[in-house]
Amino acid sequence: MTTRAEALRDLRRTLTEAGFETAALDARLLLLAALGIPATDLITRPDVPLSADEAEILAAFARRRLAHEPVARIVGTREFWGLPFRLSPETLVPRPDTETLVETALDLIPDRRPPLRIVDFGTGSGCILVALLHELPNATGLGIDLSFGALATARANAAENGVGDRSRFALSRWADAVSGPFDLIVSNPPYIASGVIPGLAEEVREHDPRLALDGGPDGLEPYRIILSEAKRLLEPGGLVVVEIGYDQEEDLTGLAAAHGLEILRVAHDLSGNPRCIAM
Ligand code: GLN
Repeated sequence: MTTRAEALRDLRRTLTEAGFETAALDARLLLLAALGIPATDLITRPDVPLSADEAEILAAFARRRLAHEPVARIVGTREFWGLPFRLSPETLVPRPDTETLVETALDLIPDRRPPLRIVDFGTGSGCILVALLHELPNATGLGIDLSFGALATARANAAENGVGDRSRFALSRWADAVSGPFDLIVSNPPYIASGVIPGLAEEVREHDPRLALDGGPDGLEPYRIILSEAKRLLEPGGLVVVEIGYDQEEDLTGLAAAHGLEILRVAHDLSGNPRCIAM
């Protein structure tokens, strides 16, 4: 019989030997998911033996990880802004860098009291919108996506994180079916140039949906659309905050100027790359 503590140690060793830099964290998340227990349970009851079923599930998870499937895909959830988010094949795995966008938007909102109306283009798992609604108890939000699967996932995430009553989700190609007005537009659109996608890391290329990555020939197509609609959708004084690729600051500055939008801030991620632009 293998105990929880032994299973954790064995899996950590296997992943370390296979070269996974995040072996310890991966092993812990996979074990918790295979057993369906909270982290505290692992600490307080490390000596409980795994049942045959549990051991089998864990072994299957380990095989998938060794084949470089992201942990978040295997366990089906990922934490963002301290909140749990379900994933589906139609949603990007929320990235820690995207918290920069949430932080920037919260920081630039002049007054949190009025009932802000937020729209999130390409909402995916809903992580940005749900995090904002979680922080802004008077705000309401509309999450837009081109994927039905993503909308269902985002809706479930909003409900599970307690903001379901203040959010709506709708299918639209960008702002085609959207009229506004809004006080805040947020988006982490697909911004990878189509030609660059084959060179992305395997975990991204093989497991994140192409629809959430591919920003057209130069990676800027979604920004052209969103920025060209900003004036129509926003209240006077409204704010646009978008995530960008590490090398897109100049392009976005140009696009903003072309649409008469003033850059308010360029925020950097933890690696020091420009990661989000507010205008
Ligand atoms: N930041 C993501 C990546 O590096 C890209 C997400 C996007 O295109 N919005 O894979």
